[in-house]
Amino acid sequence: MLVTTLGYGAAVPNACVAHIQLHRTQGARFHVSGIPWTAGRNAVSRIYAAFECCGLPRLAGAFTLHIRPTDYLKDLTTLDLPIALALLAHAGIVPSEALPRIFSAGEMGLDGQIRPPEGIQNGPESQAPDTLNVDALLLPDGLGRVLAPWGPRGKALRTNHLNQAVAYLTGLQSLPVIATKTRWNERERWHPEDGQQWHGLRLSPLHVKALGIAAVGQLPLLIIGSAGTGKSHMARAFHQLLPGLKAEQFKEVEHAHRAKGIPLSASEKPPLRTPHHQCTAAGLLGTIDQSGTWMPGELSLAHHGLLCLDELCEFSRDCIEALRGPLEGEGFLLSRARQSRVELPKGWIVATSNPCPCGRFNEGPLHCSCTAGRVQRYLQRLSGPVAERFALHMETTTAEAAGAPPVPALHTIREQVASTQDWLSTQPAVQTSPKANRILQQHARTFNTSARGLMHLHAVARLHAAWEQRAGDPVIEIGADDAAFASQMRIFDRPRWWEKPEMP
Ligand SMILES: [Zn+2]
Repeated sequence: MLVTTLGYGAAVPNACVAHIQLHRTQGARFHVSGIPWTAGRNAVSRIYAAFECCGLPRLAGAFTLHIRPTDYLKDLTTLDLPIALALLAHAGIVPSEALPRIFSAGEMGLDGQIRPPEGIQNGPESQAPDTLNVDALLLPDGLGRVLAPWGPRGKALRTNHLNQAVAYLTGLQSLPVIATKTRWNERERWHPEDGQQWHGLRLSPLHVKALGIAAVGQLPLLIIGSAGTGKSHMARAFHQLLPGLKAEQFKEVEHAHRAKGIPLSASEKPPLRTPHHQCTAAGLLGTIDQSGTWMPGELSLAHHGLLCLDELCEFSRDCIEALRGPLEGEGFLLSRARQSRVELPKGWIVATSNPCPCGRFNEGPLHCSCTAGRVQRYLQRLSGPVAERFALHMETTTAEAAGAPPVPALHTIREQVASTQDWLSTQPAVQTSPKANRILQQHARTFNTSARGLMHLHAVARLHAAWEQRAGDPVIEIGADDAAFASQMRIFDRPRWWEKPEMP
């Protein structure tokens, strides 16, 4: 006969669910598999002593005890209780059919007392697996708080003695439910106002608006400008405009981080990922390894948060090309052998770039030592399909950065982002004035803008109108100013834009 049950597998760095199988046949031997023999023998000796103290029978027979994951668990004393329950099921003391849906944990004293093993309470705890599908978790004081969130709500039961576990499983006694706060209830709140990035910014009102609009519309933003104009600072400050995570969103963020082996405590703070330009395309998108395990990339880790790509031109061509789908908010497929999965990260993407290899092109020919050919080759990586997928192109110069006023208070911008977002979610009607239409059409004609570019142009004009208008109006009215703003924020639509051709 075979009995199976679940236990707590203590391991570093990630604790896991241990699967316990106990088989009994005729004979008188005890075989152990998956854990060291001495650990198995010590556990069984402790358990049998406890059985005797508690007046429980010791069953004869040849047993094979198998524990999975094999050769990985560090502290095996937590498995005393599940092994004891499996032995009692063979003896007919507890129902064997109930045990596969019971998760239990705890070291057993020779008197039958169950306690957490030394060091586990405050140990390297440990991310909960996806909620266990069990009927009950039998946990002693000290482990309850840590392990209760592993199971369904209200199923963790306080079990400090072997007799209590037996009485519960035979229906003689009910056990007190361990009251737990969920991890989310104890989450770290997010106070973006405390961050220093935003306060230190100096930006023109136009650029403040561009950041706000990118935050509202979740539009990818490309910041191009001379070295030392604070592009990276701006990109990181943008993170402070993002809305905090909701419980469901945090779960998704945590899922990706867990797959990558990055511990994450419950927090409302949206992720901020800033991969180095030596990152590979696989590092950006993620991979599936030979065993079919998903290893998320930077895009998935930045889900519901910000992916910040500093010096985009320095990234490999593969990386830049890999961004095409994600920049359009499309999913991408990861596959290997017969395994595949579609990833659809939803986050913000901000990239920065120098305008030329020396970084000082915008300062004028006296400052930049690059030839026209070098500048063109440098920007070629961005030009065309990739740059086009960034909805907003923002240009920064040293002169502008020096003369720019300090930014408005973060909370006013955040409020405006939130109220504009709320308004847009009610899907108000949109009206475009003839003058605005003319500007947009002229932009499209002059620069031979693609359908995608045109779509971005309209989207930005609409968001600009919503940003400038009073939230809650029944209609968003796109005027000439809105269209002009959108046109201004599409510098890569202009061929050889660095020569600054003005619209006729
Ligand atoms: Zn240069």
